[in-house]
Amino acid sequence: MGGAVTAQGVFGLAVPDLLLALLRAIQTPPVIYLAAVVRVAFGIILVLAAPASRTPLALRALGALIVVGGLISPFYGEQFGHAMLDWWQAGGPPLIRAWAGFSLVLGVLILWSVARRPIPARAAWRGKHMLQLRPCCECCGKDLPGDSDAAYICSFECTFCRTCKEEVLKGRCPNCGGELLLRPRRAPEKLLEYPASTQRIVKPDGCSPPAR
Ligand SMILES: [Zn+2]
Ligand SMILES: [Zn+2]
Repeated sequence: MGGAVTAQGVFGLAVPDLLLALLRAIQTPPVIYLAAVVRVAFGIILVLAAPASRTPLALRALGALIVVGGLISPFYGEQFGHAMLDWWQAGGPPLIRAWAGFSLVLGVLILWSVARRPIPARAAWRGKHMLQLRPCCECCGKDLPGDSDAAYICSFECTFCRTCKEEVLKGRCPNCGGELLLRPRRAPEKLLEYPASTQRIVKPDGCSPPAR
């Protein structure tokens, strides 16, 4: 749709006389009614496409304007169109080229704004906003796969097995002092898409019970 406006602009820049003749042809019934229907449809499409675009308000306003223009054109379009075409003819190719240039810019603007709003790159999102799912207990090195139901983490994702958490650490993270809670399991099919961390973090000297 933006492409059609752009094409019209390019066309008018290249062969202004031909565009003039063409426009004169579509200002007469029954073509003018067809042109009106096309215009209304184009306007409605713009209004519908507006919310997902980069410039929702501008696009909605433009769409509404085109719908109204299309609706009144069968009644006033003929006189108005002919008057405008006569004016163009008097102005000659430079005037038509100027109008065509405007049409080109408008078309490109529509194309640009209808293009969907850029969404945050999924690749960048991946890995940053999910649990690391560290692969083992930091105290004893026991393996704790991403779907394990015996992994416990603090708010910094320090990771421990159930035995160490209960018998050695008494529910407190030895690094930050925060509480250790059951780590949610990641579904197997999600683990394929979002794999668990493979970086093993283990204290060389193990863990001792909290001093107290
Ligand atoms: Zn452990
Ligand atoms: Zn911690």
